[in-house]
Amino acid sequence: MGTGSGPTFGNTKGSEINVANATHSSRKTVSQIKHESKINVMKWAKQKRDELSGKTKKNFNTACVVYDIETGNYYYGRNGGYHEKYYDRNSLLFGDDTNAGLLPRVSMNKYPVGNCAEVDAVNHALNKGAKLGNLYMTTIHTTKNQFGNYKSACENCTYTFKGRINDNFSGWYKNEGE
Ligand SMILES: [Zn+2]
Repeated sequence: MGTGSGPTFGNTKGSEINVANATHSSRKTVSQIKHESKINVMKWAKQKRDELSGKTKKNFNTACVVYDIETGNYYYGRNGGYHEKYYDRNSLLFGDDTNAGLLPRVSMNKYPVGNCAEVDAVNHALNKGAKLGNLYMTTIHTTKNQFGNYKSACENCTYTFKGRINDNFSGWYKNEGE
């Protein structure tokens, strides 16, 4: 920028109302985020189960929500979500012509890379401009027997998101002997 910054009018109006405090008081605590996330993802999963049909409904076994601490928004995902028509695969995760994505190149388990509910939820968040480091993750089982129980991340998701997102309330994959 240029050097001519012109006259300075700073600090003469006294209009600095306590914005910092207002922001602070509206910020949720981690335990509030954890509690709300669980309620929200269960609600979402119930709705989703009603919406889905056929094979997709039958295969629906996992739901994930990520909370963006910067905006207060929740983003949801389900296993197989990335198969949806016109799905916008975020290049940070899936890579593009020039760069590799954060997802592993080869799956570390029996699931196709990108298939997980976690990837779907984070993909939605990233497409809305969220930053990975601001996200809190909650993943649950959506099967009849285990509905609402926390489900820890698989090898692929742990590889992709551990150390990059803020926290994962449902836990990471644990290697034997670690
Ligand atoms: Zn996974």
